[in-house]
Amino acid sequence: MTIGLRQQQYLDAMGIQRWVRRDLHVDTSTVEEDESEPADILLLDWEALQAKVAGCTACDLHKTRTQTVFGVGNRNADWLVVGEAPGAEEDRQGKPFVGRAGQLLNAMLHAVGLQREQVFIANILKCRPPNNRDPRPEEVACCEPFLIRQVALLKPKIILAVGRIAAQNLLKTDTRIGALRGKRYTYGDTGIPVVVTYHPAYLLRSPKEKRKAWQDLLFACKILNEEKQ
Ligand code: SF4
Repeated sequence: MTIGLRQQQYLDAMGIQRWVRRDLHVDTSTVEEDESEPADILLLDWEALQAKVAGCTACDLHKTRTQTVFGVGNRNADWLVVGEAPGAEEDRQGKPFVGRAGQLLNAMLHAVGLQREQVFIANILKCRPPNNRDPRPEEVACCEPFLIRQVALLKPKIILAVGRIAAQNLLKTDTRIGALRGKRYTYGDTGIPVVVTYHPAYLLRSPKEKRKAWQDLLFACKILNEEKQ
């Protein structure tokens, strides 16, 4: 299982632990090898990275995607918003956070004075899991070098982890999202602060929680202002 060794060396070098839920057996027998290794991905510029993602066949999700969803936004942004994975509409349009959840994310950003175009938005996975099931650990492991490289190129001043899947995978934890909110974390050993909030799709189902998401955004703004000082 060669994703194991070289990718783990790479992740170790980045100070980022691979997180695998202890109650899951990770069957990597279905993981297909892509020719590119994580160490190569570390060297790519934006255009080459986007092309590499577009042609990626490193996990089974390439078989069912319409297209990859690389991420969009300002490549000089202070804010990196990280969600879970493309849904049906994102898979169709090739953009993250479109549809009603995307509109709510835009409104959330607007509430703290940000236009969507001012931030960069990406996902843990670049391809849609069938039927919007949760990402599998081996899929996250395969896709993680792309996000690591996006972070390295972007050098955001803050990462907003949107939803449980994004938060748990960015922070390598299985702690529930409610307990992750309201604290400052860092992404690996990058020193870049991470703040956790709810996914807008969840907020659409549970509008009473929007107040907490607002508090999370204010908290993120406070952290960002501290970073800039
Ligand atoms: Fe490649 Fe990520 Fe898509 Fe899997 S989800 S095929 S690793 S781009």
